[in-house]
Amino acid sequence: MVRETGYYDILGVSPKASADEIKKAYRKLALKYHPDKNPNEGEKFKLISQAYEVLADPKKRDLYDQGGEQAIKEGGMGGGDFSSPMDIFNMFFGGGGGGRGQRERRGKNVVHQLGVTLEEMYNGSTRKLGLQKNVVCEKCDGYGGKKGTLEKCSNCKGKGVQIKVQQIGPGMIQQIQSMCSECQGQGEKFSAKDRCKNCNGQKVERKKKILEVHIDKGMKDGQKITFHGEGDQEPDLEPGDVIIVLEQKEHPVFQRQEENLIMKMQIKLVEALCGFKKTIRTLDNRTLIISSPPGQVIKPNDVKCIQNEGMPLYRDPYEKGLLIIQFEVEFPDNHWLPDNMFPALEQFLPRRDDVMITDDMEDVDLCEVDTESQRRKYSGEAYDEDDGPRSHGVQCQTQ
Ligand SMILES: [Zn+2]
Ligand SMILES: [Zn+2]
Repeated sequence: MVRETGYYDILGVSPKASADEIKKAYRKLALKYHPDKNPNEGEKFKLISQAYEVLADPKKRDLYDQGGEQAIKEGGMGGGDFSSPMDIFNMFFGGGGGGRGQRERRGKNVVHQLGVTLEEMYNGSTRKLGLQKNVVCEKCDGYGGKKGTLEKCSNCKGKGVQIKVQQIGPGMIQQIQSMCSECQGQGEKFSAKDRCKNCNGQKVERKKKILEVHIDKGMKDGQKITFHGEGDQEPDLEPGDVIIVLEQKEHPVFQRQEENLIMKMQIKLVEALCGFKKTIRTLDNRTLIISSPPGQVIKPNDVKCIQNEGMPLYRDPYEKGLLIIQFEVEFPDNHWLPDNMFPALEQFLPRRDDVMITDDMEDVDLCEVDTESQRRKYSGEAYDEDDGPRSHGVQCQTQ
């Protein structure tokens, strides 16, 4: 039994969610609330990470399901310390490039989500993605100004920090040390005339970069495409990666399940009993004809498949999965046939079972189920004075 659902609620999944659903929910939310995109939602980002850290680990999830957040905090799991939200994010999106030491020499990775249609994943496609990124200033080569004109910052005397003295009470002073605002903690700066005009001494400039994203046949929802070294540039720092995460859009006809495609098909009762020919439009715009011969009965929820018409396999696109068809049988409406013709119809149908009826049995009415009026009846609102009990409520006439 699940007692607490807080972590599930944060990720917006049901407590019965599969590991896959939890992953997907985290992916969506982590990208949405990442501080790069949503700087004011740091707390939310942290909560999402914590919820994911617990629910992604079967042991911790078990512990949480049994004892809630309390059980996680009390530990049994390494004191209940949570990892940093960024570490979880980097681990999930494959960023960081390894250990901590290595990360410091590299710029950070940037993750983008790209919505992709099922058609694009079936046929393959190239998408152009325009990104804003920092590049080392071309004019000054990332130096920030004219070579050799860097001066010691007069504000902080080259220390990079400034110390402010504040009186916090009678006879009490406090020293506050902060980064020098004149030189941004560098200790050196250019005078206005020597500063690079292109980047205003920032060493980098913002530029638009177009990335061509190749979506190969058979790629999947959540698959990552990495552009090495395409992250923000900074002088003397190896740039991080741009990581594109594919997000498959819903398709009106097909649902994907790994390499298989699943579709629902409505057929009429006559088709279910007497056979049919039907067409299916594929994701690459071919038309398939399927047929069921007379004598072959299709029952509601019957499932059939077509070989090699599912999704292409990634890196082996000539191999394809199954196209699975779930049949829904549409029955005719009431009185679709004059009453006097039913005996004739019955002759063609499989024989009905005989029912033994004896005198001690009771004859009762078979009614439509109307849950709404049923609810009102039991909550005491069913009858209002004007129209009496029969006007709404269960529609049953006794004759
Ligand atoms: Zn410059
Ligand atoms: Zn300074």
